[in-house]
This record gives sequence, C-alpha cells and structure tokens, in this order.
Amino acid sequence: SDPALFELVQREESRQEDNLELIASENIASLAVRQAMETVFTDKYAEGYPGKRYYGGCEVVDEVEKLPIERLCQLYGCEAANVQPHSGASANMAVYFTFLEPGDTLMAMNLAHGGHLTHGSPVNFSGKLYKIAAYGVDPETELIDYDEMHRIALESKPKIIVSGATAYSREFDFKRIKEIADEVGALHMCDMSHYSGLIAAGEYPDPVPHCQVVTSTTHKSIRGPRGGMILGTADAIKLINKTVFPGLQGGPLCHVIAAKAVAFLTHEGFRIVSGGTDSHMMLVDLRPFGVTGKLAQEVLEHANITTNKNAIPNDPESPFVTSGVRLGTPAVTTRGMVEADMSFIAKSIATVLRNHSDEGTLNKVKAEVTDLCRRYPIHKF
Ligand code: PLP
Repeated sequence: SDPALFELVQREESRQEDNLELIASENIASLAVRQAMETVFTDKYAEGYPGKRYYGGCEVVDEVEKLPIERLCQLYGCEAANVQPHSGASANMAVYFTFLEPGDTLMAMNLAHGGHLTHGSPVNFSGKLYKIAAYGVDPETELIDYDEMHRIALESKPKIIVSGATAYSREFDFKRIKEIADEVGALHMCDMSHYSGLIAAGEYPDPVPHCQVVTSTTHKSIRGPRGGMILGTADAIKLINKTVFPGLQGGPLCHVIAAKAVAFLTHEGFRIVSGGTDSHMMLVDLRPFGVTGKLAQEVLEHANITTNKNAIPNDPESPFVTSGVRLGTPAVTTRGMVEADMSFIAKSIATVLRNHSDEGTLNKVKAEVTDLCRRYPIHKF
C-alpha cells in the first residue's frame, strides 16, 4: 500500500545483504523478533505495570510483560527487571533520575577512552545535570587503571560509579569496581549494552553479582529489538519502576516488549552447566524440564535422537538416573549440518522433553528428525 516505503525497505535489505556489517553496536534481529514487533500489541496502551495498569483490557499484555522479566531473571540471575525503557539512553536516564539529584557526582568512563554519551558527555543530559568524575585507561597499557579509578573515587565521592563502555574491548573487573564503590558509599551500575549477549552466553565477566543495577540496550549483542532494559536488586527496581513510569515515559511499547521476550528465550529453557560451552559439547541440566537424565535419554531415543544421560555437578540423582544429558556435535557436523540445523535439533529436544509422555508428539518429532537426517546422508554414494 506504500510503494515509496516498500522501495526503501527493499533498498535497505539489499544494502544489508551485500555489505559486511562491522559496526559493533549493530546486529541482525531474528525473524521471530521482527515478527513479534509486527503483532497487534503495537495497538495497546498499558501505562503502569502488570497488575497495576491505568487502562482496561491489559490482561494479555500483562502476561506479555511478565515473560521477558521472568526470562531475564532466569538468564542473568537478577532479582528483578524493568523492560519498558524505550532505549539504552532512557534506561541510563531512569537510573540516574532515581538515585541522583542534579549537581551530584557521577563517575563513569572517560568518553575519549570508550565511555558512552550518557556517561557524562557535556553535550548530553548526563554531563549537563551532574558533576562528572571520569576514569580512564593507563596511557601505556591502554587498560583501565583501577588504582587511578580508586584515587579519583576517594577524591570525588561519586554517588554512582558506572562500569561498561561503548568502545572498550577488554574485560571490566566488576568485582574491583564494586569494592571501590562500596568504599566510597556509591552505587555500582554497569551499562552492559555492548556485552549483554556475551554475558548471557557466559563469554564475558558477569557484572550482575557485583552491581545494584545493570542497564543495557536490547539490540546489540543480545540480538533483540531496538530498546532498553534495567536489571537489579528487587529494592532498586522498585524505585526505578516509578522513575520509568510515570517519571519519564508514558505507555510502554508492548509489541517491542513482546520482541524482547523472544530475544531472552535462550536455549528453549535449557540450562547449560557452567553457563555455556567453549567446545563441541555441552552438559544440559534437565531439572527445568522436570525430567531425569535416564528418562530424557529414553524418550529422545524414541524420537531418533541418541544421547547419553550424564551427572551434573552436585547432582541430587544417582549416577544411574542423573539430572543431566550430554550433547555433542561432532557426528552431525561431519554430516554437514550447520547452525540452523542445530537450532532445529535443540527445538526438537525441547519438544520431546516437554511432551515426553505424548506418543503422538514423539512420533511427529521422529518423522521430522528422520527427514533432517535424509537431507544429510552419511554415505553419499
Ligand atoms: N550505553 C552504551 C554503552 C551504548 O553503547 C549505547 C549505544 O550505543 C547506549 C547506552 C545508548 O543506547 P540507545 O542508542 O538505545 O539509546
């Protein structure tokens, strides 16, 4: 119905297809994330929070908003979350407005060394409203100088110390920053926007245990829709909720919140022992599915998926029963299966585990698995 816009969409699609995208703050959202954003939730006004809305007809969007919150708490192990911020900048603003008065001191990474605009740039509200104490990198090593950070914190007595950056490729020592924050009575907030996907996958140090508050965009390495989120202790999020609404925003973008839920749905609810894998194998904790390793092995075999039950660390079950299953990819990758096939396999495993007593579902998965195998014959001639 809008040829002019349609033409622009097509041009952008070709641009994205034909270019190598190396902008560190960009990603490619999954089709499921994009589809969630085109749902009817875009039509709904839902000022307030689940169970406490200022509009009627919110019973479905209440459930929509609870989903990403629950998933975030599971994914990052935080006590509470707010998924309403429209962007990363709004998320940071909500935290500052909750815990700072104009004129208070905010400590964050020097913009010239990798900090973000909202970490105290003089042209941004953060630099205009607050006194900024900036920490930075050692001129020799180009790594954050924590002794100097400590000295600046003692001297400037900030109310918040922000860790996280927009152009710092190395690891933050979140534990050390929390110690410095505790010593000077500051709150430690991490802006994990760039690292949030890596943290969720266990590939970057986890700030959550060392912070009262963690903010993030949802569209960078976590690969969700364009937006923001705030994780934290229950006490901190209770205060922040009031700042986000009615303090800063009106109605939440319910369709974007739905897409955030899709992005935080990791591994079909699988908990991988140690939070991830650096190799060809992983150990899956089956307790979230309410099945033992023994049962999982049996029902998966029924669906033509061969695995072995495996004890997980501190397993409450006996070695014969176990709470885990071990999965490895060498054989399927040798057949030529690729990432998309792995997602399909993960989905099939989750379907089997969730419906382990439903013969019909097991047979359906078996037929789909057989079909996949036939597309990748082992003996090609
Ligand atoms: N914080 C950091 C560390 C960022 O890198 C960015 C964006 O690049 C933001 C916040 C702001 O996010 P948004 O553009 O969604 O406001």
